[in-house]
Amino acid sequence: MSFSPLIRQLIDGLRGLPGVGPKTAQRMALHLLERDRKAARHLASVLTGAMDGVGYCQRCRMLSETEVCSICSDPRRDDSLLCILQSPADVWAVEQAGGFFGRYFVLKGNLSPIDGQGPEEIGIPALLANLEGRDVVEVILATNPTVEGEATAHYIAGLLRPRGIRVSRLAHGIPLGGELEFVDGGTLAHALAGRTLING
Ligand SMILES: [Zn+2]
Repeated sequence: MSFSPLIRQLIDGLRGLPGVGPKTAQRMALHLLERDRKAARHLASVLTGAMDGVGYCQRCRMLSETEVCSICSDPRRDDSLLCILQSPADVWAVEQAGGFFGRYFVLKGNLSPIDGQGPEEIGIPALLANLEGRDVVEVILATNPTVEGEATAHYIAGLLRPRGIRVSRLAHGIPLGGELEFVDGGTLAHALAGRTLING
């Protein structure tokens, strides 16, 4: 016997989540239907609320419920320091690590020509627009230490050098090939503090 269409759709929907395989999706769907319909309805409503209400900050492209996010609109942040990351999850990781009081810019992933991810796609024009009219002294490139992350960092460094902006890269402690959001806070704070200049 196969699942009826609505149950099938629910299972397929859950399977789209990261780390959820067919068996887990099936278990989740049956749990929601059989044991916890109240929580399931609540989940459906908060999902809709988040999808409708959460957009992107116009300045840094972080996930935000307002046009300009709370970090960009905070006058206490250091305007001369800009940290470039490749996902909103990385911003939260750096914020939770503490010790960084500059501003952020979030790229949409890495340069990857094979996957059709060029400068336009990852948001380079928006980054350059973000720098316009601001007195940024140093940019910290906190893209992941993967091949694509390094290539992206070098591309951006090449664009910023002629503008007289100091460009640095996260230091030691970030495992090669690792992803920032999974690095523990202490290591991340240390890597930020020990960042190294990548231009003279
Ligand atoms: Zn922002």
